[in-house]
Amino acid sequence: MDFDFGETEKILCEKIKGLFNGDSMADPASLAGEDVEEIRGATLKCLGPLGREGYLTLGLDNEKNYVSLTSIQESLAAISPSLFISAEVTARIFGRLVAVYGTPDQKDEIIPSLQEGRLIGAVAISEDAMNIENDPINTLAENNDDDFLVSGSKGHVVNGPIADWIAVAAKTGDGLAFFLVKKESAGLSVGQKLAMLGYNGLAVSAVSLENCPVPSNYIIGPFDGEEQLKTVRMWEDQILTASALGLIKRSLDAALKFAKGHRSGNKPIIAYQEVGFQLAEMVTLFQTAQLLAYRAAWMAEAGDTEAAVLAHCAKVFCTESAEEVASHALQILGGRGYVSGNPAEEGYRDAKYLQIAGTSSEISRMKIADGVLGDW
Ligand SMILES: Cc1cc2nc3c(=O)[nH]c(=O)nc-3n(C[C@H](O)[C@H](O)[C@H](O)COP(=O)(O)OP(=O)(O)OC[C@H]3O[C@@H](n4cnc5c(N)ncnc54)[C@H](O)[C@@H]3O)c2cc1C
Repeated sequence: MDFDFGETEKILCEKIKGLFNGDSMADPASLAGEDVEEIRGATLKCLGPLGREGYLTLGLDNEKNYVSLTSIQESLAAISPSLFISAEVTARIFGRLVAVYGTPDQKDEIIPSLQEGRLIGAVAISEDAMNIENDPINTLAENNDDDFLVSGSKGHVVNGPIADWIAVAAKTGDGLAFFLVKKESAGLSVGQKLAMLGYNGLAVSAVSLENCPVPSNYIIGPFDGEEQLKTVRMWEDQILTASALGLIKRSLDAALKFAKGHRSGNKPIIAYQEVGFQLAEMVTLFQTAQLLAYRAAWMAEAGDTEAAVLAHCAKVFCTESAEEVASHALQILGGRGYVSGNPAEEGYRDAKYLQIAGTSSEISRMKIADGVLGDW
């Protein structure tokens, strides 16, 4: 297991850490609003610098540099959880879907703008339930001369209200395909931005399609089998795992700073053993979560036969640790932690999304159990 990062990755991590410092033009904090046009504008302003530094290009070549990708993702996830998920859905899910499985014309039309941070993408797969194996996709695409008519609905779509393009998973007579739907397409309805427990800077909505015409040159697939869908869901889980590392870092940093600076009973509270023990637990969880996430990434990179099981272990551990670390941080911040607007309470609310979305903790545990039933 070699986690030695090259100079390029180290430089990019450092650049990302300083990217939004004092930049009023590109401020991730301005994503938290209700007006979707303002959120879209603020998102594009933040994607611009990320594009210039090459962040949005990572992984589009389908090189499996998962370990260095995780470390670079972790840097952004610790700065702005909402911007991180939004940018990742655009680049690492929508972008990679087009870059890896799309046609040359689709790539020419979409990838350059995406890399420059001028395009927002969304991917709509899940419907009534998340368990693809149990609950197959009901969105259907019917062949209609030169195009397809797509009908169906998706309950939660990250970037739905602000996306230029939505890749909609639907069934055709020949298998599952992704339909690249432009935001102004006839028959496409994007719901209101959903009010959510956490990730308050993230624009998520329902999306429905009724006989939405999609020209046949805007189709990715159809695919024989579920391999491509599984790959997309693996990308999704990797992003959610990296996001958890970012939340843990934010909570830990906030608690440590507060514990050193805040005095009670004439001492900084870090001097109290009970506070120190909580910090020790948080550091241990952070180190373990990071190690497991990087090990899972390294195994995926190496094509290890146990990589899929490890990826689920990492998602469960990191996302559940994110909640636990945020809970400790909130406790250490005391009354100040309970008031809205600090990384501890935000992390406490955000962590729940990471356990539900992608492969949920329950389904992940089932897949781990299935995996170890084999030749483990
Ligand atoms: C904020 C947010 C953003 C999202 N963004 C997107 C997006 O951009 N694109 C997209 O395609 N999807 C997206 N999703 C959907 C997400 O990936 C899940 O698929 C979706 O939340 C499904 O949730 P559900 O409540 O329908 O789960 P259900 O499948 O109904 O499950 C409900 C509960 O039962 C458990 N459960 C279900 N089946 C089993 C089983 N067989 N065994 C044991 N337990 C089981 C689950 O783990 C969960 O705890 C998003 C979801 C959220 C919350």
